[in-house]
Formats: sequence, C-alpha cells, structure tokens
Amino acid sequence: MDYKQELKTFFGENCLWEEPMSRHTTYRTGGPAEVYVYPKTREDWSFVLKLARSFNIPLHIIGFGSNILVGRRGIDGIVCSTKHMNGLHMDGEHIKAEAGTALDKVCEMACQSGLAGMEKLSGIPGSIGGAVYMNAGAFGQETFDCLEYFDAIDWEGRPVTFLKEEMKYAYRHVEGIENYIILSASFKLQKTSFAPLVETRNTILHKRLEKQPLEYPSAGSVFKRPANDYASRLIDDTGLRGLSVGGAKVSEKHAGFIINFNHATPEDIKTLIDQVRQKVKEKHGVELELEQILWGEFNDSNH
Ligand SMILES: Cc1cc2nc3c(=O)[nH]c(=O)nc-3n(C[C@H](O)[C@H](O)[C@H](O)COP(=O)(O)OP(=O)(O)OC[C@H]3O[C@@H](n4cnc5c(N)ncnc54)[C@H](O)[C@@H]3O)c2cc1C
Repeated sequence: MDYKQELKTFFGENCLWEEPMSRHTTYRTGGPAEVYVYPKTREDWSFVLKLARSFNIPLHIIGFGSNILVGRRGIDGIVCSTKHMNGLHMDGEHIKAEAGTALDKVCEMACQSGLAGMEKLSGIPGSIGGAVYMNAGAFGQETFDCLEYFDAIDWEGRPVTFLKEEMKYAYRHVEGIENYIILSASFKLQKTSFAPLVETRNTILHKRLEKQPLEYPSAGSVFKRPANDYASRLIDDTGLRGLSVGGAKVSEKHAGFIINFNHATPEDIKTLIDQVRQKVKEKHGVELELEQILWGEFNDSNH
C-alpha cells in the first residue's frame, strides 16, 4: 500500500486527496495538498507522524490558515489540520483549549466569565495552535501574555509540556516552536467583573470591522511592524494603497493588508508582496519583514 492509501484506510472520510488549499486558507487561493488529514487523538498523531517518517514524506500543520499563502502548485506530502481538536475547559481563572479551538471563542468565553487578559485578542481569526505558534497579538496584548503552558509533541511523537517561562518569545516570534506540534494551551487569567471586558471586546470587534477589509479574503497584516513604525504607514506613504497585480490589491481600507478582490492567484499576491517590499525599501530604506508564511513554490519576482 502506498502512504496515501494507508492514510485513507486509517482516517477514512477525514483523509482527502488533492485537496485545494483555497478551501482552507483565508486568502481563498492556493493549489492542492497531496493529502489533507484531520488527526484528533494522540493515536492519530502517532500514526501520521510514523508514516511520514517511514515514507520520508513532508508534513505541514495547519490551524485556520489565516496566516498562510500557498503556491499554485500546492503542497507535496501531508497537511494535518487541527480543526477537529476543539475541546475547551475552564477551571477558575484557567482556561485550557485544544489547538484547533478558535482563539476568538476562547476570548469570548474569558470575557463573559469576567476573566481578564485576552480581551484585546478578540477577532483574530486564528486557532489556539496558530496563536501560540505566531504569538498572535493586537492592541498591545499578545498570546504569550496570558499563556501559562502548552502541551505539544515533537516530530517523533514524543509528548512535552512547555511552561511559558521556558520559552523565548517576542513580537510574532517564538523561538524553536517549529520543532513541535502544539496540541493544547492553558491560559491563566485574572478574575474581574465581566462588563468592562465585554465592552472592550465589542469595541475591538467594531474597530476591526471599521478599519480592516473584512469583506474580502486576506490573511491580515502582510508584514511585521518595523521598529518604531507601522508597515501600513510606510506602504501608504509610498503611495501603494490600491496598487494591484491581477486579482490581488493593497487594500484601500488598510494598507497593511493585501486582499484577494478578484480570484487572485498565489503568484498575484506574491508578486504584489515583492513589489510593495521593493518600493518601500527604495523610498524609506526599510526592509519589511514578512509576517505571513509561504508554503510551496513561488517564482521570485523582484520587480
Ligand atoms: C482579517 C485578519 C485579521 C488578522 N488580525 C491579526 C491580528 O490582529 N494579530 C495577529 O497576530 N494576527 C492577525 N491575523 C493573522 C492570523 O489570524 C494569526 O497569525 C493567527 O494566529 C494564525 O492562526 P491560524 O490558526 O490561522 O494559523 P495558520 O495560518 O493555520 O498557521 C500559521 C502557522 O502556525 C503553524 N501552526 C498552526 N497550528 C499549529 C499547531 N497546532 N502546532 C504547530 N504549528 C501550528 C502553521 O504550521 C503555520 O506555520 C489576522 C488574519 C486575518 C485574516
């Protein structure tokens, strides 16, 4: 049996072949994953990791695909989605959530329970696993601020628990995190009254709706914030608001976002990213660093 057939036999309907990644990324574009599976239990993970190792197959982990751009030719090997891992448990000031739980669902639960510490993360459209991996954040709050520990496995399937104190993390960066698959995360919050938290959450959700082009597919801010500045300010000041390549455009509403406004191909988006980077460098001498993650192949278009 080849590895695809073995996965099909094990995962049944939770194994898809040649699955378009446009269905699983918020950019709504990208070629197929050779195999797309939904592991749920430790046994599922052991099986898929062992198989990938023995057949020497590349393996990717995806949460909600809200920070990933996949190339037109897609992804060789296996993509594992955490979407079926969505357990959520609250105990006093602690909330523990499995990797595929929506971060926003946890934020909502925390706010409504009068638990402070993650209300400003409201509206980030990622999973708990993706939020820990990226140290996602907004409005001066980051995932690691309230993280207590996370449970993971390494690529051999060995379980490990990391306390926040053991990790080196910074703005949208967690050192060494790529060596692990995050299974769940536990957050320690502070008990307070719920009304101001719910108000903060609602204000933030409203701001996002007002300031971000949520009516179009995108993957949020394309670039990391450069030191002492904002990528969107630099892009705007370079006159790039509204610049387009094919079906991709620098959002007129928020210049830090690239939107898929009309059936953009991954190459449209990547070419636009490269153009923005180059023009900002020419005008401001600032090298914008990509926040979004590229999977698969792209032609380098440095013009
Ligand atoms: C409209 C919009 C607004 C956004 N606003 C913000 C914002 O305010 N702040 C912010 O920080 N981000 C923002 N983002 C970006 C994105 O939502 C975050 O980066 C989010 O944390 C990504 O989570 P995800 O589950 O979608 O991860 P994915 O995009 O699926 O994956 C991102 C990376 O994490 C890895 N990963 C995911 N899950 C796991 C796991 N369980 N184990 C190991 N690795 C894993 C993937 O392999 C990949 O490398 C926004 C995106 C959109 C579309």
